[in-house]
Amino acid sequence: MPGPGRLTRIGTSLRRALLWRRLPPGALPAEGTAAARTAAFVRRGHAGAALALLLLAAAWGAVLDRAMNRAAIAADHAVIAARQPALALRLAQLDIAHPDSGELGAFDTTLAQMRHDTATLAGDTGPAALQALLSGPGYNLHARLSDLFDLARHARTADDPATRAQLTEALRREIAGPVAAGLTDAADLFAAASLGRARTVTHRLQWAVGSLALFALAWMAAARSLDRRLRRTLGLLEYLAARDGLTGALTHNAFAARLHRLLQRGRVGLVLLDLDRFHALNATSGDAAGDAALRAVARRLTRAAGPQALVARLGSDSFAVALPSLDGGYPALATQAERLLATLRDPIPFQDQLLHIAASAGTALAPEDSAVRAELLRMAGVAVRQAKHETRGVARAFHAVEPAAQARREAVLRALSDGDLAGVEPWLQPLVRCDTGEPVRFEVLARWTHPTLGRIAPAEFLPIAEAVGRLPMLSAQVRNAAFLALAALHRDGPADLPTRPGLAVNLAPSELATPGLLAAVEAALAAAELAPSSLTIEVTEDLLIEGVDSDASARLQALRGRGARVNLDNFGSGTANLAHLRDFEMDGLKIARPFIAGIGQNGRTETIIRGMLGLCRGLGIEAVAEGIETEAQLRFMREAGCEVAQGYLIGAPMPPDAVRGWLEQWREKKAVLF
Ligand code: C2E
Ligand code: CA
Repeated sequence: MPGPGRLTRIGTSLRRALLWRRLPPGALPAEGTAAARTAAFVRRGHAGAALALLLLAAAWGAVLDRAMNRAAIAADHAVIAARQPALALRLAQLDIAHPDSGELGAFDTTLAQMRHDTATLAGDTGPAALQALLSGPGYNLHARLSDLFDLARHARTADDPATRAQLTEALRREIAGPVAAGLTDAADLFAAASLGRARTVTHRLQWAVGSLALFALAWMAAARSLDRRLRRTLGLLEYLAARDGLTGALTHNAFAARLHRLLQRGRVGLVLLDLDRFHALNATSGDAAGDAALRAVARRLTRAAGPQALVARLGSDSFAVALPSLDGGYPALATQAERLLATLRDPIPFQDQLLHIAASAGTALAPEDSAVRAELLRMAGVAVRQAKHETRGVARAFHAVEPAAQARREAVLRALSDGDLAGVEPWLQPLVRCDTGEPVRFEVLARWTHPTLGRIAPAEFLPIAEAVGRLPMLSAQVRNAAFLALAALHRDGPADLPTRPGLAVNLAPSELATPGLLAAVEAALAAAELAPSSLTIEVTEDLLIEGVDSDASARLQALRGRGARVNLDNFGSGTANLAHLRDFEMDGLKIARPFIAGIGQNGRTETIIRGMLGLCRGLGIEAVAEGIETEAQLRFMREAGCEVAQGYLIGAPMPPDAVRGWLEQWREKKAVLF
């Protein structure tokens, strides 16, 4: 009998096996994840190997064809060999004693034929016994055939009829006896040897080709099931890595990543749930009861929220539910939150007791409240704290908790949804060379002064614009106005600039996904009579994290091909994956502001910055520092070898018509700073 430890292990293995088998389709590796990429890579590897084997089998087929030809030649030779005894017999029957009999010619021809045939056969390397027979010391058939000629000539030329008859008889005996027997033996030996050899060669090759093709087919069949298993196993690993060990709900990180994807697809309702007095339950009924309650909560929320929803355990007793495609807006979200709370109110049976659980909920709706994940979570957090503070066990909505902020957000959303972009304009922020202070380019930053709402910060309107699909339109308006402003500066600006400054524009992934982008940018540049080389595109790592979609990447490379530069924005603030630098061709890196802010505060930050600058030097690309606010930061970056600087110390974003004034002031400030 297995012991209890072993039973537990068997139970665990069984559970895992069952989980593996019952893995829901949604738990297969999600597209774009490392697991999905690995599975696809392995699948392609298997298909490639099987294809290579099939090709090898085809090549072997060509070899087989040649071998068959050789076998056919060997078979021809065998036919020649088989013909020889018959020829010998015919020779023996010819009467050569009478010169006039007319058969002399036939004798010569037949003999010549035999000599030719034996010479052909002797050219082929037959078995040793055959070689010995044809030209060996014992029975030298070749020599005997030569002797026959001499004998025949003597027989014909002998004057004495008796001698002639004697010689003819000797000739006939020789041919009908040893020569015919020798030739029969030779023919048998030759035919057996060459046919045997041909058969062996063909059999071996047929076997090799057949087994290779079979092997390739078996590989393909086995690889299919192997690939399926690999996908499921990787899916299971991914699934388990994303789950909380106790409840099976998503972990905080997994939830955040998936919520980010959901937010890009449309309206999402977020419900945060905090269990009321959970610590008291733990203290009175024990940890096991607490664990059972948490498991039941996760189970009930998952069931109530439906298969499309995400359910996560964010903290020890707090859960989150994301509800996609929530078409009914705030009322639908409130109903859903109430349903989720209601499902938790039924007592949870545990051993011989009933556990009573209640929760408070806070809700926020995207994009109405915010389309930014962190903001949305913060808002739902504010609402849930409010609910706990007011009356436990109820759901509160963020928009009801902070109505003023909400009203403003709704107004922004409405304006953007209507495509009302009045008051949206470009502001320009200078970037200068770190060694001389010369202006290199201006970064275009969108600003919005709304007729009734006043100034709206980019952090407020850009995510909403992105969520309602208006970002490409908004950015284009800003970009085109900036191009015209730069052209005017080139035309009428100060003549003492050593080089004409360019423009840097930010392109979000959703803009790069727009098919007409390239043509629109080119047309706007042409309308302003600007060369593409005056343009720098700033893209963020988001574009690369989500796997550069090949169209977006092609658009960027096409712009580079026309002379524009592509710089990676905010480097170091995201995942700063060095693989991006390897895989994605770019012209510069913009070191993220938090690193610059750490200069003079933290030696490690300075070491990291030096590392990034070394990376840029090694790759031969431009290094840009953003957010330079102090002289110490500028000095450090200059001495560390950074090429371009941007920040409030040099100049804050300004309306285009303020640029000329800035250039004049900068002439004096530059003399002090550089
Ligand atoms: P970003 O590309 O990282 O732009 C730099 C941001 O840093 C700007 O914020 C700028 O005002 C701010 N900044 C510049 N120097 C300093 C400094 O010395 N200290 C501090 N604390 N901040 C500094 P802004 O204008 O609020 O823009 C925010 C983000 O919005 C930008 O981040 C950019 O990614 C995006 N953005 C702005 N305009 C557009 C646009 O027209 N299209 C697109 N796609 N994105 C835009
Ligand atoms: Ca930027």
